Amino acid sequence: MRQSFLFTATRREAPKDEESTNAKLLIRGGFLHKEMAGAYAFLPLGLRVLENIKRIIREEMNALGAQEILMTTLQRKELWETTNRWDDKEVDVWFKSTLHAGGEVGFGWSHEEPIADMLKSHVESFRDLPVYVHQFQPKLRNELRAKSGIMRGREFLMNDMYSFDSSEEHHTAFYNQAIKAYERVFERAGIGEDTFMTFASGGAFTKFSHEFQTIIDAGEDKIYLNHEKRIAINEEVLNEVVLQELGIRRDELVEVKTAEVGNIFNFGTAKCEQLGLLFTNEAGKRVPAWLGSYGIGVTRLMGVIVEKHHDEKGIIWPSSVAPFRMHLVALPGGETIAEKLYGDLQSKGTDVLYDDRVSASPGEKLMDADLLGIPLRVVVSERTLKEDGVEIKKRTEADSQIIKIHDLLAYEVI
Ligand code: ATP
Ligand code: MG
Repeated sequence: MRQSFLFTATRREAPKDEESTNAKLLIRGGFLHKEMAGAYAFLPLGLRVLENIKRIIREEMNALGAQEILMTTLQRKELWETTNRWDDKEVDVWFKSTLHAGGEVGFGWSHEEPIADMLKSHVESFRDLPVYVHQFQPKLRNELRAKSGIMRGREFLMNDMYSFDSSEEHHTAFYNQAIKAYERVFERAGIGEDTFMTFASGGAFTKFSHEFQTIIDAGEDKIYLNHEKRIAINEEVLNEVVLQELGIRRDELVEVKTAEVGNIFNFGTAKCEQLGLLFTNEAGKRVPAWLGSYGIGVTRLMGVIVEKHHDEKGIIWPSSVAPFRMHLVALPGGETIAEKLYGDLQSKGTDVLYDDRVSASPGEKLMDADLLGIPLRVVVSERTLKEDGVEIKKRTEADSQIIKIHDLLAYEVI
């Protein structure tokens, strides 16, 4: 991709009302456009990152045997009334509207109810189970505060997965596999080391739900963590009984600020019982299915990656999610060779952003390269060409080196 052609350009300043680091850097870099508090548009660079994150999640969820679907945003009031989750007193983040034709609808903030209800038309007997489905679905939540950039949107993208099993044994086995898959997602997205499975409230069948919490200064949550044992407890459930149950003392835990990137729930058979999702088991009896519900905040994850990986100059993308692998920058005297290299790299299939802008000064180009945070920067200039070379520099490192032009094409970009 030619940078002269790229929509949009970088900006010196972030919007004045933007407080969070992730949104400031992502807006300055041209990854995002702020529509209003809690609602951001994804521009080409931002969409590339988002698609990379989605690819990682999709691969891991598909590997579990979950099939991808897409449910609707519009939700039926009557359905949510059956589980007592329509009332604003029960769920305080609903966006709701009225139809011209009469009646109320809600905008989906979660999808357990519609998915379980849909399955009633597809599950008759134990032979129809298990069903594992997942989706990338824009969720709408009327959040009171939206000051953390894409870490807390009123409109945000979630990957939600639902498991329906016919026995507790299969249900538990899948739930445990899902924990591993979530850990792989965060590992691959470059935040594995700082992300901890955390005992949290919201358990239905089991006492706890399991959150995945990433340590960041800008986090809105607080957890109590033992690094070595990798035991983490959300502050909501921290008490003597829980400590005893988990076999840890309060003084072995330190308080850290975190952001919740994922949350998984074990509903047992309660939700399907409530919604009437029953099947005929092997003994011929009608029984409710076992439900697990699993959610990753996809756009929040992108924000957390930026909060975790940046410096005063800009973003430092982990290569697995970076919008491009290589940033080729033409500086004065290097234009002709850079142009040729761009062609060669493209034919080789290298994922490269090419700064061919004639209007930008060398200083601006280098500053922009730091801001955009592409893992490998390659500069071609009069100076590098004197050595018959190009300058390569990793975004994670301060030092650069000159390599021969013909070696660049053989260079393995990771
Ligand atoms: P929070 O406590 O941060 O409000 P939650 O516990 O209500 O989140 P869940 O219902 O567990 O959220 O949703 C699953 C995942 O979706 C969360 O772990 C989080 O990563 C993400 N998420 C939730 N709310 C938002 C939001 N407003 N903006 C972006 N991501 C969100
Ligand atoms: Mg949660």
